[in-house]
Amino acid sequence: CIFCKIIKGEIPSKKAYEDDTVVAFFDIQPQAPVHIVVIPKEHIENMNGITADNSDVIAHIFEVIPQIAKENNLADGYRVVSNCGANAGQTVFHLHFHILGGEKLNTTMA
Ligand code: AMP
Ligand code: ZN
Repeated sequence: CIFCKIIKGEIPSKKAYEDDTVVAFFDIQPQAPVHIVVIPKEHIENMNGITADNSDVIAHIFEVIPQIAKENNLADGYRVVSNCGANAGQTVFHLHFHILGGEKLNTTMA
């Protein structure tokens, strides 16, 4: 899994945040002026893999997202996206949340 390799440092990334359970890094193919990917260090395939046993790390991700947004000057707003499965266009099967901002985003979500 390429995101597990990023966590281990086997693939380089530009980190935006890291702690014991979470890593955030800048997307290599940014779709907005600020595009950061936030992932749990634990390998979970996607949203369908969230259970009562691992949801504490998901809650933690949503605590750090506003901090990351603040540090990256997203006071004017940002969007958080998680593609789950083929129809949503998920390409990396390690749960992740995209933080998109830095400009006025499309008002169509899909
Ligand atoms: P998704 O299409 O929602 O599964 O998102 C996967 C995201 O990971 C895409 O936006 C890719 O550009 C991004 N990505 C893939 N490989 C890397 C990498 N090595 N470093 C940073 N971002 C990556
Ligand atoms: Zn993984």
